[in-house]
Amino acid sequence: MRIAVAALVVATLVSAPAVRLQPDRDQIERGTLRLHYVQKPIGYERYEITRDGDALTLSSDFDFTDRGGRVQLAATLRTKNDFTPLAFKATGKSYRFVNVDSEIRVDGSDALVRADGAEARVTLPAQFYTVDGYAPFAAQMLMLRYWKQHGQPRVLRTVPGLPINEVVIEPRGREAIRIGTAVVRLERYAIDGVVWGRETVWLDDQGSLAAAITRAGGLSFEAVREDLEPALVGFVQRATRDRIGDLENLTRQMPLLKSGTYAMVGATIVDGTGRQAIADGVVVVRDGRIADVGSRDTITVPADVPTVAVAGKTIVPGLWDMHTHVTQIEWAPVYLAAGVTTVRDMGNELEFVTALRDAIDSGRALGPRLLLAGLVDGGGPDAFGVVYAATAEEAKQVVATYHDAGFQQIKIYTLVTPPIVAAICAEAHRFGMTVTGHVPNGMTIEQAAAAGMDQIAHLAIRGDAGSDDVAKTIQFLKAHKTVIDPTQSWNELLGHAAGTPISAFQPAVTKIPAPLNRVFSNAGAAGIDAATARTRLERGLRIVKALHDAGVPVVVGTDEGIPGHSVHREIELYVEAGLTPMEALQAATIVPARAMKLDGEAGTLERGKRADMVVLNANPLESIRNIRAVRWTIRAGRVYDAPALWKSVRFLP
Ligand SMILES: [Zn+2]
Repeated sequence: MRIAVAALVVATLVSAPAVRLQPDRDQIERGTLRLHYVQKPIGYERYEITRDGDALTLSSDFDFTDRGGRVQLAATLRTKNDFTPLAFKATGKSYRFVNVDSEIRVDGSDALVRADGAEARVTLPAQFYTVDGYAPFAAQMLMLRYWKQHGQPRVLRTVPGLPINEVVIEPRGREAIRIGTAVVRLERYAIDGVVWGRETVWLDDQGSLAAAITRAGGLSFEAVREDLEPALVGFVQRATRDRIGDLENLTRQMPLLKSGTYAMVGATIVDGTGRQAIADGVVVVRDGRIADVGSRDTITVPADVPTVAVAGKTIVPGLWDMHTHVTQIEWAPVYLAAGVTTVRDMGNELEFVTALRDAIDSGRALGPRLLLAGLVDGGGPDAFGVVYAATAEEAKQVVATYHDAGFQQIKIYTLVTPPIVAAICAEAHRFGMTVTGHVPNGMTIEQAAAAGMDQIAHLAIRGDAGSDDVAKTIQFLKAHKTVIDPTQSWNELLGHAAGTPISAFQPAVTKIPAPLNRVFSNAGAAGIDAATARTRLERGLRIVKALHDAGVPVVVGTDEGIPGHSVHREIELYVEAGLTPMEALQAATIVPARAMKLDGEAGTLERGKRADMVVLNANPLESIRNIRAVRWTIRAGRVYDAPALWKSVRFLP
């Protein structure tokens, strides 16, 4: 709780220095923020601000426990009285795999910036701030105060960056929230660039942080001042409306190269059925559907249909990502830019993901088609999210809630008990929904499949591909028609030797925005060498190959990873596993379409199907890396320019 004198004292900050009884070091403000992950309260950030002479020192202790794992960050920020930074230091973690170790010392117009073990001298712009990711939120609060006192510049440059990052702050209006009988007046801001994507931050009339909602490329993370906790869901809804509005704006500004009725003429067409590529092909698109597709000598393009010459290009079906968490609007342009036209969301905030789906379905917002799996966990202190089922009755309620909200699937999480897994599956099947998820604790993959889970996330198979046990498991999954999304690119991203640069296996890491780069720059397994990491990855890839050979459907999924680019990496890894480029492409197209019972509608380029397609600059059947060479993405007949999509969310094309 903030102390009572805070309002009084903050007011003096903006005027002349007050006469103090204890001039040497004076606590002038402190606050406690409740931290939440996907709305579940998981910890606190406690901060205090002291003054000595004409400098302020913010110290923050950021501390939460997520699914049994402790995450702590200690940070200090020393500023002048007008909040101009003098020194910043943050050590610890801001998320499970996000290690933070940065220190900035301002020295005149320069700063000595140490981040991730590297040190650099950076020339500072006239206006700047020191902030390293969303934590501590109190540093973002001081950044906002600085920005307000320094003319509200359109762009505020921040360190550490690569070398300097750009943050855009926009006031989004005032609002009042009611807590019991008290009315709290707040100002809302959109902050873009502290993390990848826009955050929503509220300050009260004293300039103190009331709430902040961030994503940082992962699931939603909410900080709410302790006394405002009852307004959590209200903050989430308000932030959701803001962000969907931003995506609608972005959509209006995005050039649409073609829509309606047209024919793409002259490309190589890989229709995804497994048939040979069609050289010099034609695709006729009419009102979002494929009206005709084939070689130029078999297709007659009606005289009134405009044509687009695409000789030299290759057209493939729109890609799918079967394991994602589309937690922020920036994913929508990213996925289209990467050629992904359908995604399955595997756990998210209900308010946000349904609003995003509806905005995309209505055509107000661009983005891939969103299929939703509703996450449910078993409850208790280590549970994930805020949707639990510990009894058969709760299982029914959860399934009904997700069904009513238009979800296609249920995603079971780790702490659901075996009888409740069976109850959820039975109820979901009764509604015509399918069930996917983690193999819950205390169950084997066979037991999970036998309990009714239609699909399994991640590669929950121990042992070696050649062993009898693994062969038996695979036969069991085959018999149960279980679908697997093995998320090998995610394993590679977190499991690579910490000393190996990500660019060694993911060349696109050089194209991602600086804050996202900082998130992943410290990811990786400590204490192992590159050969050990590779051996672990190859064990997984051999199982992927064995599953595929046995006829178990394997579908491409990333669990987010490097946005968009991890889809390409997942496909490449299947080729490394031994699938042909065609088979790997199908794992990202027709196989997931079948798994979601949408193969009559999507997944291949065939007459009558939805015009979801990717126009590539090179043929992925010649080298699977060419799947990265996206030129245009066609989503329900609308043609988007991939470079423009990338740039709209600060990626390099
Ligand atoms: Zn996931």
